[in-house]
Amino acid sequence: MTYQVLARTWRPKQFSELFGQDAVVQTLCNALNAGTFGHAYLFSGLRGVGKTTAARLLAKAVNCVEGPTAEPCGECVSCLEVAEGSSIDVIEIDGASNRGIDDVRELRELLQFRPTRDRYRVLIVDEVHMLTREAFNALLKSLEEPPPYILWIFATTERLKVPETIQSRCQQLEFRPVGSELIRGRLEEIAAKEGFTLAQSAAASIAAAAEGSVRDALSLLDQLRAFASDDVDDAAVASVLGVPPIEITVRLVEVLAAGQIADGLALVRDQLAGGQDASVLYREVGRVLRAALFLAVDPELAPVMSEAHRALLLNVAESFGADPLSRMLGLWLEQEALVRGAGNRELALEVASLRLARWPSVRRVEDWLAATGSTGSDSDSGSGPGPTDPPSSTKQPKSSQGPAATKGNTSAADAQKEPQEEPAGADENDSSLAEEASSDPGVVLATRVLGGDVVAVRSDGDGS
Ligand SMILES: [Zn+2]
Repeated sequence: MTYQVLARTWRPKQFSELFGQDAVVQTLCNALNAGTFGHAYLFSGLRGVGKTTAARLLAKAVNCVEGPTAEPCGECVSCLEVAEGSSIDVIEIDGASNRGIDDVRELRELLQFRPTRDRYRVLIVDEVHMLTREAFNALLKSLEEPPPYILWIFATTERLKVPETIQSRCQQLEFRPVGSELIRGRLEEIAAKEGFTLAQSAAASIAAAAEGSVRDALSLLDQLRAFASDDVDDAAVASVLGVPPIEITVRLVEVLAAGQIADGLALVRDQLAGGQDASVLYREVGRVLRAALFLAVDPELAPVMSEAHRALLLNVAESFGADPLSRMLGLWLEQEALVRGAGNRELALEVASLRLARWPSVRRVEDWLAATGSTGSDSDSGSGPGPTDPPSSTKQPKSSQGPAATKGNTSAADAQKEPQEEPAGADENDSSLAEEASSDPGVVLATRVLGGDVVAVRSDGDGS
Protein backbone atom coordinates (compact mmCIF):
# COMPACT_ATOMS: atom_id res chain seq x y z
CA MET A 1 0.00 0.00 0.00
CA THR A 2 1.41 3.39 -0.92
CA TYR A 3 2.01 5.92 1.80
CA GLN A 4 -0.57 8.65 1.97
CA VAL A 5 0.83 11.94 3.14
CA LEU A 6 -0.33 13.11 6.55
CA ALA A 7 -1.89 16.32 5.22
CA ARG A 8 -4.20 14.15 3.15
CA THR A 9 -4.92 11.48 5.74
CA TRP A 10 -5.75 14.12 8.30
CA ARG A 11 -7.62 16.50 6.05
CA PRO A 12 -10.70 17.72 7.95
CA LYS A 13 -13.93 15.98 7.01
CA GLN A 14 -16.12 18.30 9.08
CA PHE A 15 -16.00 21.98 9.91
CA SER A 16 -15.38 21.04 13.53
CA GLU A 17 -12.08 19.48 12.42
CA LEU A 18 -10.93 22.57 10.56
CA PHE A 19 -8.03 23.42 12.71
CA GLY A 20 -7.13 26.82 14.14
CA GLN A 21 -9.80 28.78 12.23
CA ASP A 22 -12.52 29.13 14.80
CA ALA A 23 -13.88 32.47 13.56
CA VAL A 24 -14.19 31.23 9.98
CA VAL A 25 -15.83 27.99 11.10
CA GLN A 26 -18.32 29.77 13.31
CA THR A 27 -19.25 32.23 10.57
CA LEU A 28 -19.81 29.49 8.00
CA CYS A 29 -21.68 27.18 10.35
CA ASN A 30 -23.99 29.95 11.55
CA ALA A 31 -24.78 30.90 7.97
CA LEU A 32 -25.41 27.28 7.00
CA ASN A 33 -27.61 26.61 10.01
CA ALA A 34 -29.61 29.78 9.39
CA GLY A 35 -29.75 29.17 5.64
CA THR A 36 -28.27 32.60 5.01
CA PHE A 37 -25.05 31.73 3.24
CA GLY A 38 -23.96 33.99 0.44
CA HIS A 39 -23.58 33.32 -3.27
CA ALA A 40 -19.88 34.23 -3.31
CA TYR A 41 -17.10 33.85 -0.76
CA LEU A 42 -13.54 35.06 -0.79
CA PHE A 43 -11.24 33.01 1.44
CA SER A 44 -7.89 34.66 1.99
CA GLY A 45 -4.83 33.85 4.05
CA LEU A 46 -1.44 32.22 4.15
CA ARG A 47 -0.86 28.98 2.22
CA GLY A 48 -1.69 25.77 4.00
CA VAL A 49 -4.13 27.13 6.57
CA GLY A 50 -7.26 25.39 5.25
CA LYS A 51 -8.79 27.62 2.57
CA THR A 52 -9.29 24.93 -0.05
CA THR A 53 -10.34 22.43 2.57
CA ALA A 54 -12.95 24.88 3.85
CA ALA A 55 -14.14 25.47 0.28
CA ARG A 56 -14.70 21.74 -0.24
CA LEU A 57 -16.44 21.45 3.11
CA LEU A 58 -18.74 24.30 2.16
CA ALA A 59 -19.45 22.61 -1.17
CA LYS A 60 -20.35 19.42 0.68
CA ALA A 61 -22.45 21.32 3.18
CA VAL A 62 -24.66 22.99 0.60
CA ASN A 63 -25.08 19.91 -1.58
CA CYS A 64 -25.38 17.09 0.95
CA VAL A 65 -28.70 15.25 0.62
CA GLU A 66 -29.32 16.16 4.23
CA GLY A 67 -28.37 19.77 3.66
CA PRO A 68 -27.75 22.52 3.39
CA THR A 69 -26.23 21.73 6.75
CA ALA A 70 -23.19 22.65 8.81
CA GLU A 71 -22.66 18.93 9.33
CA PRO A 72 -22.73 17.19 5.95
CA CYS A 73 -23.25 13.44 6.27
CA GLY A 74 -20.09 12.47 4.42
CA GLU A 75 -21.85 9.37 3.09
CA CYS A 76 -24.25 10.47 0.38
CA VAL A 77 -23.17 10.38 -3.25
CA SER A 78 -22.70 14.12 -3.32
CA CYS A 79 -20.49 14.19 -0.20
CA LEU A 80 -18.43 11.26 -1.42
CA GLU A 81 -17.91 12.75 -4.85
CA VAL A 82 -16.83 16.11 -3.46
CA ALA A 83 -14.34 14.34 -1.23
CA GLU A 84 -12.95 12.49 -4.24
CA GLY A 85 -12.96 15.58 -6.41
CA SER A 86 -15.24 13.90 -8.94
CA SER A 87 -18.49 15.78 -8.41
CA ILE A 88 -20.05 16.99 -11.61
CA ASP A 89 -21.53 20.02 -9.87
CA VAL A 90 -18.52 21.07 -7.82
CA ILE A 91 -15.85 22.40 -10.11
CA GLU A 92 -12.38 23.38 -8.98
CA ILE A 93 -10.39 25.77 -11.09
CA ASP A 94 -6.80 26.77 -10.56
CA GLY A 95 -6.60 30.49 -11.19
CA ALA A 96 -2.90 30.26 -11.91
CA SER A 97 -3.29 28.00 -14.93
CA ASN A 98 -6.68 29.22 -16.15
CA ARG A 99 -6.04 32.89 -16.18
CA GLY A 100 -7.47 34.03 -19.45
CA ILE A 101 -10.78 35.22 -20.71
CA ASP A 102 -11.44 32.06 -22.71
CA ASP A 103 -11.39 30.05 -19.54
CA VAL A 104 -13.81 32.48 -17.98
CA ARG A 105 -16.09 32.26 -21.03
CA GLU A 106 -16.20 28.54 -20.57
CA LEU A 107 -17.01 29.10 -16.94
CA ARG A 108 -19.81 31.44 -17.80
CA GLU A 109 -21.26 28.85 -20.10
CA LEU A 110 -21.25 26.47 -17.17
CA LEU A 111 -23.19 29.06 -15.21
CA GLN A 112 -26.08 29.06 -17.66
CA PHE A 113 -27.14 25.59 -16.74
CA ARG A 114 -28.68 24.45 -13.54
CA PRO A 115 -26.74 21.92 -11.52
CA THR A 116 -26.97 18.44 -12.95
CA ARG A 117 -27.94 16.68 -9.77
CA ASP A 118 -27.18 18.74 -6.69
CA ARG A 119 -28.70 21.87 -5.23
CA TYR A 120 -25.87 24.18 -6.21
CA ARG A 121 -23.24 24.40 -8.85
CA VAL A 122 -20.19 25.27 -6.78
CA LEU A 123 -17.24 26.90 -8.50
CA ILE A 124 -14.06 26.93 -6.46
CA VAL A 125 -11.37 29.18 -7.93
CA ASP A 126 -8.02 28.71 -6.24
CA GLU A 127 -5.36 31.46 -6.42
CA VAL A 128 -8.00 33.75 -7.86
CA HIS A 129 -5.65 36.76 -7.74
CA MET A 130 -3.81 35.26 -10.72
CA LEU A 131 -6.70 35.87 -13.12
CA THR A 132 -6.28 38.57 -15.76
CA ARG A 133 -8.21 41.83 -15.68
CA GLU A 134 -10.39 40.63 -18.57
CA ALA A 135 -11.14 37.46 -16.70
CA PHE A 136 -12.13 39.43 -13.62
CA ASN A 137 -14.39 41.65 -15.72
CA ALA A 138 -16.10 38.62 -17.12
CA LEU A 139 -16.53 37.23 -13.61
CA LEU A 140 -18.01 40.44 -12.38
CA LYS A 141 -21.14 40.03 -14.43
CA SER A 142 -21.98 36.75 -12.79
CA LEU A 143 -21.30 38.20 -9.36
CA GLU A 144 -23.57 41.16 -9.99
CA GLU A 145 -26.49 39.08 -11.13
CA PRO A 146 -25.84 35.69 -9.63
CA PRO A 147 -28.04 32.83 -10.76
CA PRO A 148 -29.65 31.42 -7.58
CA TYR A 149 -28.11 27.99 -8.07
CA ILE A 150 -24.49 29.20 -8.21
CA LEU A 151 -22.05 29.35 -5.31
CA TRP A 152 -18.67 30.93 -5.97
CA ILE A 153 -15.79 30.25 -3.62
CA PHE A 154 -12.61 32.15 -4.36
CA ALA A 155 -9.40 31.41 -2.49
CA THR A 156 -6.30 33.53 -2.50
CA THR A 157 -3.03 34.01 -0.67
CA GLU A 158 -2.98 37.63 -1.87
CA ARG A 159 -6.29 39.30 -1.26
CA LEU A 160 -4.99 42.76 -2.09
CA LYS A 161 -4.35 41.64 -5.67
CA VAL A 162 -8.03 40.79 -6.11
CA PRO A 163 -9.87 43.79 -7.59
CA GLU A 164 -12.02 45.79 -5.18
CA THR A 165 -15.04 45.22 -7.40
CA ILE A 166 -14.73 41.49 -6.86
CA GLN A 167 -13.89 41.72 -3.17
CA SER A 168 -16.86 43.91 -2.42
CA ARG A 169 -19.27 41.42 -3.97
CA CYS A 170 -18.04 38.53 -1.89
CA GLN A 171 -18.32 37.60 1.73
CA GLN A 172 -14.74 37.78 2.84
CA LEU A 173 -13.28 35.39 5.34
CA GLU A 174 -9.72 35.81 6.49
CA PHE A 175 -7.91 32.62 7.47
CA ARG A 176 -5.33 33.27 10.14
CA PRO A 177 -1.88 31.76 10.50
CA VAL A 178 -2.20 28.99 13.07
CA GLY A 179 -0.31 29.53 16.34
CA SER A 180 2.76 27.37 16.83
CA GLU A 181 1.46 25.96 20.11
CA LEU A 182 -1.73 24.82 18.41
CA ILE A 183 0.25 23.25 15.59
CA ARG A 184 2.56 21.53 18.06
CA GLY A 185 -0.41 20.02 19.87
CA ARG A 186 -1.90 18.88 16.59
CA LEU A 187 1.36 17.21 15.49
CA GLU A 188 1.60 15.34 18.78
CA GLU A 189 -2.02 14.23 18.49
CA ILE A 190 -1.46 12.95 14.96
CA ALA A 191 1.77 11.19 15.95
CA ALA A 192 -0.05 9.44 18.78
CA LYS A 193 -2.89 8.34 16.51
CA GLU A 194 -0.52 7.20 13.77
CA GLY A 195 1.52 5.35 16.37
CA PHE A 196 4.96 6.88 15.97
CA THR A 197 7.21 8.67 18.42
CA LEU A 198 7.52 12.43 18.23
CA ALA A 199 9.55 14.23 20.88
CA GLN A 200 7.80 17.25 22.34
CA SER A 201 10.67 19.61 21.57
CA ALA A 202 10.87 18.21 18.03
CA ALA A 203 7.18 18.95 17.56
CA ALA A 204 7.79 22.50 18.80
CA SER A 205 10.64 22.97 16.32
CA ILE A 206 8.52 21.71 13.42
CA ALA A 207 5.67 24.00 14.44
CA ALA A 208 8.02 26.99 14.56
CA ALA A 209 9.48 26.15 11.16
CA ALA A 210 6.00 25.87 9.63
CA GLU A 211 5.31 29.53 10.47
CA GLY A 212 1.57 29.24 10.81
CA SER A 213 0.91 26.76 8.02
CA VAL A 214 -0.60 23.47 9.14
CA ARG A 215 0.05 21.89 5.76
CA ASP A 216 3.73 22.85 5.89
CA ALA A 217 3.98 21.39 9.37
CA LEU A 218 2.48 18.09 8.22
CA SER A 219 4.76 17.97 5.17
CA LEU A 220 7.77 18.50 7.40
CA LEU A 221 6.54 15.77 9.69
CA ASP A 222 6.25 13.45 6.66
CA GLN A 223 9.87 14.18 5.74
CA LEU A 224 11.05 13.62 9.29
CA ARG A 225 9.13 10.41 9.62
CA ALA A 226 10.71 9.10 6.44
CA PHE A 227 14.15 10.13 7.68
CA ALA A 228 13.89 8.92 11.24
CA SER A 229 11.85 5.74 10.86
CA ASP A 230 9.01 6.67 13.16
CA ASP A 231 11.22 7.99 15.95
CA VAL A 232 11.32 11.73 15.43
CA ASP A 233 13.62 13.41 17.93
CA ASP A 234 15.67 16.61 18.15
CA ALA A 235 18.59 15.08 16.26
CA ALA A 236 16.32 14.21 13.34
CA VAL A 237 14.90 17.74 13.36
CA ALA A 238 18.40 19.20 13.38
CA SER A 239 19.37 17.07 10.37
CA VAL A 240 16.26 17.50 8.27
CA LEU A 241 15.15 21.04 9.13
CA GLY A 242 18.64 22.40 9.60
CA VAL A 243 17.72 23.67 13.06
CA PRO A 244 20.83 24.12 15.21
CA PRO A 245 20.94 22.10 18.44
CA ILE A 246 19.43 24.18 21.23
CA GLU A 247 22.68 24.08 23.19
CA ILE A 248 24.34 26.07 20.40
CA THR A 249 21.56 28.62 20.20
CA VAL A 250 21.48 29.06 23.96
CA ARG A 251 25.25 29.45 24.05
CA LEU A 252 25.02 32.11 21.35
CA VAL A 253 22.34 34.00 23.28
CA GLU A 254 24.40 33.80 26.47
CA VAL A 255 27.61 35.20 25.00
CA LEU A 256 25.82 37.93 23.07
CA ALA A 257 23.73 38.91 26.07
CA ALA A 258 26.91 39.11 28.12
CA GLY A 259 28.35 41.51 25.56
CA GLN A 260 31.04 39.10 24.36
CA ILE A 261 30.98 40.29 20.79
CA ALA A 262 34.00 38.38 19.52
CA ASP A 263 32.84 35.06 20.95
CA GLY A 264 29.35 35.64 19.63
CA LEU A 265 30.51 36.46 16.14
CA ALA A 266 32.85 33.48 16.13
CA LEU A 267 29.92 31.22 17.02
CA VAL A 268 27.75 32.75 14.32
CA ARG A 269 30.48 32.30 11.74
CA ASP A 270 31.10 28.71 12.80
CA GLN A 271 27.44 27.96 12.31
CA LEU A 272 27.24 29.70 8.95
CA ALA A 273 30.45 28.05 7.79
CA GLY A 274 28.94 24.70 8.78
CA GLY A 275 26.07 25.32 6.36
CA GLN A 276 23.56 26.71 8.85
CA ASP A 277 20.94 28.90 7.20
CA ALA A 278 21.15 32.47 8.47
CA SER A 279 17.40 32.97 8.71
CA VAL A 280 16.90 29.69 10.60
CA LEU A 281 19.59 30.66 13.10
CA TYR A 282 17.96 34.07 13.43
CA ARG A 283 14.58 32.48 14.10
CA GLU A 284 16.00 30.06 16.67
CA VAL A 285 17.73 32.84 18.62
CA GLY A 286 14.37 34.64 18.70
CA ARG A 287 12.67 31.50 20.01
CA VAL A 288 15.25 31.06 22.76
CA LEU A 289 14.93 34.72 23.82
CA ARG A 290 11.17 34.47 23.84
CA ALA A 291 11.08 31.24 25.83
CA ALA A 292 13.61 32.63 28.33
CA LEU A 293 11.56 35.80 28.66
CA PHE A 294 8.43 33.79 29.41
CA LEU A 295 10.31 31.71 31.95
CA ALA A 296 11.55 34.89 33.59
CA VAL A 297 8.11 36.49 33.69
CA ASP A 298 5.98 33.49 34.54
CA PRO A 299 7.06 29.91 33.91
CA GLU A 300 3.40 28.92 33.60
CA LEU A 301 3.18 30.93 30.38
CA ALA A 302 6.31 29.48 28.81
CA PRO A 303 5.95 27.37 25.67
CA VAL A 304 5.91 23.63 26.24
CA MET A 305 9.40 22.15 26.09
CA SER A 306 11.37 19.18 27.32
CA GLU A 307 12.84 19.22 30.83
CA ALA A 308 16.37 19.45 29.43
CA HIS A 309 15.50 22.47 27.27
CA ARG A 310 13.66 24.04 30.14
CA ALA A 311 16.68 23.76 32.41
CA LEU A 312 18.91 25.40 29.79
CA LEU A 313 16.49 28.24 29.21
CA LEU A 314 15.73 28.72 32.88
CA ASN A 315 19.42 29.36 33.34
CA VAL A 316 19.28 32.13 30.70
CA ALA A 317 16.13 33.53 32.31
CA GLU A 318 17.72 33.67 35.75
CA SER A 319 21.03 35.10 34.52
CA PHE A 320 19.48 38.09 32.78
CA GLY A 321 15.98 38.69 34.11
CA ALA A 322 12.75 39.73 32.44
CA ASP A 323 13.42 43.38 31.57
CA PRO A 324 16.78 42.87 29.91
CA LEU A 325 15.44 39.84 28.03
CA SER A 326 12.45 41.85 26.86
CA ARG A 327 14.76 44.57 25.61
CA MET A 328 17.00 42.04 23.86
CA LEU A 329 14.04 40.35 22.22
CA GLY A 330 12.78 43.73 21.04
CA LEU A 331 16.15 44.57 19.54
CA TRP A 332 16.39 41.18 17.92
CA LEU A 333 12.94 41.39 16.34
CA GLU A 334 13.71 44.81 14.93
CA GLN A 335 16.19 43.08 12.65
CA GLU A 336 13.70 40.63 11.18
CA ALA A 337 13.01 42.45 7.94
CA LEU A 338 16.73 42.96 7.46
CA VAL A 339 17.66 39.31 7.98
CA ARG A 340 14.79 37.94 5.92
CA GLY A 341 14.95 40.46 3.14
CA ALA A 342 18.62 41.28 2.83
CA GLY A 343 20.59 40.25 -0.22
CA ASN A 344 23.31 39.22 2.18
CA ARG A 345 21.46 37.56 5.03
CA GLU A 346 24.65 36.41 6.70
CA LEU A 347 25.87 39.97 7.06
CA ALA A 348 22.44 40.99 8.32
CA LEU A 349 22.58 38.22 10.93
CA GLU A 350 25.97 39.48 12.05
CA VAL A 351 24.58 42.99 12.38
CA ALA A 352 21.69 41.63 14.42
CA SER A 353 24.15 39.75 16.65
CA LEU A 354 26.27 42.85 17.15
CA ARG A 355 23.25 44.86 18.12
CA LEU A 356 22.16 42.17 20.53
CA ALA A 357 25.61 42.13 22.12
CA ARG A 358 25.36 45.90 22.59
CA TRP A 359 21.84 45.73 23.96
CA PRO A 360 22.33 48.03 26.96
CA SER A 361 23.44 50.90 24.78
CA VAL A 362 21.90 50.39 21.36
CA ARG A 363 19.03 52.68 20.59
CA ARG A 364 16.96 53.11 17.50
CA VAL A 365 18.76 55.07 14.81
CA GLU A 366 15.89 57.57 14.75
CA ASP A 367 16.20 58.22 18.50
CA TRP A 368 19.91 58.54 18.16
CA LEU A 369 19.64 61.00 15.30
CA ALA A 370 17.09 63.00 17.24
CA ALA A 371 19.43 63.03 20.21
CA THR A 372 22.51 64.09 18.27
CA GLY A 373 20.45 66.26 15.93
CA SER A 374 23.08 68.92 15.44
CA THR A 375 25.35 67.21 12.96
CA GLY A 376 23.79 67.26 9.53
CA SER A 377 24.84 64.77 6.95
CA ASP A 378 23.81 66.15 3.62
CA SER A 379 27.22 67.45 2.69
CA ASP A 380 29.16 64.47 3.86
CA SER A 381 31.13 63.09 0.96
CA GLY A 382 31.95 59.81 2.66
CA SER A 383 28.42 58.67 3.15
CA GLY A 384 27.31 57.89 -0.36
CA PRO A 385 23.66 57.93 -1.35
CA GLY A 386 21.94 55.89 1.31
CA PRO A 387 18.70 54.29 0.20
CA THR A 388 17.08 54.91 3.55
CA ASP A 389 17.89 58.52 4.34
CA PRO A 390 15.56 59.36 7.18
CA PRO A 391 14.11 62.83 7.08
CA SER A 392 15.61 63.58 10.46
CA SER A 393 19.09 63.65 8.96
CA THR A 394 18.64 67.24 7.94
CA LYS A 395 20.10 69.90 10.14
CA GLN A 396 18.22 70.54 13.29
CA PRO A 397 18.82 73.06 16.02
CA LYS A 398 20.91 71.61 18.78
CA SER A 399 18.70 70.65 21.65
CA SER A 400 19.76 70.01 25.16
CA GLN A 401 17.75 66.91 25.68
CA GLY A 402 20.31 64.48 24.38
CA PRO A 403 20.20 61.24 26.27
CA ALA A 404 23.46 60.40 27.92
CA ALA A 405 25.59 57.94 26.14
CA THR A 406 26.16 54.67 27.82
CA LYS A 407 29.85 54.13 27.64
CA GLY A 408 30.10 50.66 26.30
CA ASN A 409 29.22 49.09 29.60
CA THR A 410 27.30 45.94 28.95
CA SER A 411 26.62 44.65 32.42
CA ALA A 412 23.11 43.60 33.18
CA ALA A 413 22.88 46.26 35.85
CA ASP A 414 22.74 48.88 33.14
CA ALA A 415 19.83 47.13 31.59
CA GLN A 416 17.07 49.61 31.98
CA LYS A 417 19.04 52.67 31.25
CA GLU A 418 16.47 55.22 30.30
CA PRO A 419 17.32 58.30 28.34
CA GLN A 420 18.29 60.72 31.05
CA GLU A 421 17.60 64.39 31.19
CA GLU A 422 20.92 66.15 31.20
CA PRO A 423 20.45 69.78 32.09
CA ALA A 424 24.04 70.70 31.36
CA GLY A 425 26.86 69.48 29.20
CA ALA A 426 24.77 68.51 26.24
CA ASP A 427 27.63 69.19 23.87
CA GLU A 428 29.83 66.80 25.73
CA ASN A 429 27.14 64.19 25.44
CA ASP A 430 26.94 64.75 21.75
CA SER A 431 30.60 64.23 21.24
CA SER A 432 30.83 61.20 23.49
CA LEU A 433 27.87 59.70 21.68
CA ALA A 434 29.58 60.35 18.40
CA GLU A 435 32.80 58.78 19.62
CA GLU A 436 30.97 55.78 20.83
CA ALA A 437 29.11 55.43 17.58
CA SER A 438 32.22 55.67 15.47
CA SER A 439 33.80 52.86 17.43
CA ASP A 440 30.63 50.83 17.52
CA PRO A 441 31.00 47.97 15.08
CA GLY A 442 27.23 47.65 15.08
CA VAL A 443 26.84 51.16 13.79
CA VAL A 444 29.59 50.70 11.22
CA LEU A 445 28.12 47.45 9.98
CA ALA A 446 24.61 48.87 10.03
CA THR A 447 25.96 51.65 7.90
CA ARG A 448 27.27 49.20 5.38
CA VAL A 449 23.94 47.50 5.18
CA LEU A 450 21.60 50.44 5.45
CA GLY A 451 23.52 53.07 3.54
CA GLY A 452 25.67 55.91 4.65
CA ASP A 453 23.47 57.95 6.87
CA VAL A 454 24.66 56.72 10.21
CA VAL A 455 28.29 57.31 9.40
CA ALA A 456 27.39 60.74 8.17
CA VAL A 457 26.28 61.90 11.58
CA ARG A 458 28.75 60.03 13.68
CA SER A 459 31.48 62.63 13.71
CA ASP A 460 31.36 66.31 14.34
CA GLY A 461 34.78 66.73 12.77
CA ASP A 462 33.79 66.58 9.14
CA GLY A 463 32.69 70.03 8.32
CA SER A 464 29.45 70.52 10.14
ZN1 LIG B 1 -24.00 14.08 2.43
